[in-house]
Amino acid sequence: MAKKETKKEKREERRSEFIARFKEFLHKKYYKEAVKAATEEKALEVDFKILDKYSPELGEFLLSNPEDFFEIVEEAVKQTELPGPVNIRFMNLPEPINIRNLRSKHMRKFLAVEGTVRKASEIRPEIMKVMWECPDCGETTGRERSGGIIPKLFECKCGNKRDFKKVEEQMIDTRWITIEEPFELTEGDRPSQVTIMLTEDLVSPEGRRLTDPGNRIKITGTLKEIPRGKFQTAKLDFYVDANHVEPVDIGWEHLEITKEDEEKIKKLAKDTKIYDLLVDSLAPSLYGLREIKESILMQLFGGVPADLKDRTHIRGDIHILLIGDPASGKSQLLKLVPDIVPRGRYVSGKGVTGAGLTATVTKDEQFMGGWVLEAGALVLTNKGLLAVDEFEKMTVEDQVAMHEALEQGTISIAKASIVATLPARTAVLAGGNPKFSRFDPYVPISKQITVPDTLLTRFDLKFAMRDIPDAEQDKLMAEHVIKTREDEDYEESKPKIEPDFIRKYIAYTREHCAPKIVPEVGKLLKNFYIKTRKKAEGASAPVPITLRQLEALMRIAQASAKIQLQKEVRREDAQRAIKLMKASLRQLGFDPETGMIDVDRSEGAVTSAERSRIRVILDIIEELSATKKELLVEDIIKAAKKEGVEEVEEILEKLKREGMLFEPSPGYVQKV
Ligand SMILES: [Zn+2]
Repeated sequence: MAKKETKKEKREERRSEFIARFKEFLHKKYYKEAVKAATEEKALEVDFKILDKYSPELGEFLLSNPEDFFEIVEEAVKQTELPGPVNIRFMNLPEPINIRNLRSKHMRKFLAVEGTVRKASEIRPEIMKVMWECPDCGETTGRERSGGIIPKLFECKCGNKRDFKKVEEQMIDTRWITIEEPFELTEGDRPSQVTIMLTEDLVSPEGRRLTDPGNRIKITGTLKEIPRGKFQTAKLDFYVDANHVEPVDIGWEHLEITKEDEEKIKKLAKDTKIYDLLVDSLAPSLYGLREIKESILMQLFGGVPADLKDRTHIRGDIHILLIGDPASGKSQLLKLVPDIVPRGRYVSGKGVTGAGLTATVTKDEQFMGGWVLEAGALVLTNKGLLAVDEFEKMTVEDQVAMHEALEQGTISIAKASIVATLPARTAVLAGGNPKFSRFDPYVPISKQITVPDTLLTRFDLKFAMRDIPDAEQDKLMAEHVIKTREDEDYEESKPKIEPDFIRKYIAYTREHCAPKIVPEVGKLLKNFYIKTRKKAEGASAPVPITLRQLEALMRIAQASAKIQLQKEVRREDAQRAIKLMKASLRQLGFDPETGMIDVDRSEGAVTSAERSRIRVILDIIEELSATKKELLVEDIIKAAKKEGVEEVEEILEKLKREGMLFEPSPGYVQKV
């Protein structure tokens, strides 16, 4: 008995000592701030490094035994003369611990973690403490929540063990969030996650905005276990009881750019061959696709966002849509591009689970209690690039939200009690499959992909990636593929500039360069726009030319200037933008040179009358193909004559060259 007493006495003594020391620390280092915080009813932020320097023992105490430490802090604050109560929050801990490395040894320790908020619950009051009254002596005893449950009172100080009456429940505003580890640490497709509990001032309106999905934050807090039964998922066996939250700017600073890197970037930027060098470094295992690759390059560097005086936001992100035949290399390209940008991710429209591409609100009683807002892929790649394959397979909800995301760079959501606007300034590289398995150049693009017109207009550049048989091209491509596989030193398949360095190059220009559009260049772009718009006025225009194209031209020109670290957009940058826009329009079946519908550059312009003849033939083939595969050419000619179409054989030849038909045996054709 006596031994136990001394132990207890010793503990008490140590406790008083620590209280005194923390009081002293508060007085010497933070008194003014503490008074201010108490007056403004805010929390006091204490720099851990200052505490640790002042008293390494206190620092160590906080890290190793936060629960006892905070009791001491509470007592010390009580004993300090302040205008009101004040919460103390500790920041600037030594290195954050990677979420994937959290282990049992970290349990009940004070630590820092960093990540992007993926899910957040509504803010709801939760019971933190229950006061019990003893029927025998009338004493009230409090039982505090620990790790999610509030233990019952079993015995009063007077010895009574029964009939306690609950006299008070202390509630506290609480929000549960899940953060996932930062991009640069993610290995594989599944980022590790950890659950965080936020309370009190951390869920004030300001705190709420900070912890909405999509934000990157650094949190300090105590790692606690979740008692079995509270959350049924076996994976969620611990959470961080947050003490401090701070935003982390997700610029590009996570990439280390050395002095040598900077010099190399500046040198490369001066080289006029830089555009070719970069294009050749983009997915070199994919042969050709020059204009598409050059467009993607512009997307990687991006335009310059602007906020106008009327508070409209003009995006700097360039969005690209690739509609491609199955064997056109589209998916390969979509998978390769995200690896080159600092914050890139690849998803499939069909395979996106949970929150989809944008954001969702779901009922989740079991996990966080009530409504939960979850960020989708676009929010999680904020300020980066998202490659979306099978774009047409996204959900209707995503389609709706995508309009705002692509134009304003935000996703607004209002459902149940949750109202939020999430950041999504993400460049989108989308890939879609044509509705009828192959791209049909005789049909407007908007009819070939199940994506609403309004959404299609958000894409700055659209391309069709077609698998057209061409003996000469095929030979070159086959050689390229074989050499890539056979010969490790094959120059053409190696990037001229390493992806790691391109990433730094992009990061550097994004940080240091925002080229302006000077009047001379603005005029050049404007003239092209007006001229093109005039030509597209006819009823046969497959693509409406709107102000969106003019904005796209400006963005692309800015991206081009960025690559050479220019302060102003030059004529040549504008010309590059016009060249790429023309290429995109041509692929959509509109030739900006002639104002004609252009189905195939090599074939020259086709009039709209011709185009409709082709359409008639295609419809006949479609109809006949319903009953048999191989179609007699004679049958097609007969049916066409009824519709008043002559020169059928000529059109069939053309369709064969386009790769839409082939000849299974003489006198027959078959759909590809
Ligand atoms: Zn009692």
